Amino acid sequence: MAAQTEESDTAREQTKAEQDVDQVRQRAARDQQRLDSGAVTSPKDLENLQREITSLAKRQGDLEDVVLEVMERRESAQERVAELTERVTAVQSKIDDATARRDAAFEQIDGEVATVTKEREVVAGSIPADLLKLYDKLRGQQGGVGAAKLYARSCQGCRQELAITELAEIRKAAPDTVVRCENCRRILVRTSESGL
Ligand SMILES: [Zn+2]
Repeated sequence: MAAQTEESDTAREQTKAEQDVDQVRQRAARDQQRLDSGAVTSPKDLENLQREITSLAKRQGDLEDVVLEVMERRESAQERVAELTERVTAVQSKIDDATARRDAAFEQIDGEVATVTKEREVVAGSIPADLLKLYDKLRGQQGGVGAAKLYARSCQGCRQELAITELAEIRKAAPDTVVRCENCRRILVRTSESGL
């Protein structure tokens, strides 16, 4: 935006400088016409007129230099605008690309959430109400994990190895008894890999 402002500022400056040149050129042309017409006869007036024409020619030259200088600045401002516009376009296309990928990821995640939620509902429906209540309570207390696998004598919830006496009790417990970790109180799920 700053580069565009600079470009339009120099464009205005150029117009103004060109108008200045034009004014001086017109005045010089009028003076030259008067001189050529022969209407001015007094030597003093003729001398003044000639002096003015000379001074206007010099002034025109100076003003034309100003125009050239402004044009140079305007050209570099235009180049800068073009370069920055190209960069903006490149960045915008990166943003568009990232936005599209993010939206696609959102859509996929939403789909997964819907599937998992449905699956959970089915599983939760098959679990006794009191056990589900205990599980939900533990889940709330233990960072979203209410039950953990007992794996190689360790609770996979808190990563602690169970004491020998506790393991012995779990070994004796009936398959449908709810056993819990003595350390984190999570429900322990026994498998063939539990190390019992
Ligand atoms: Zn534990």
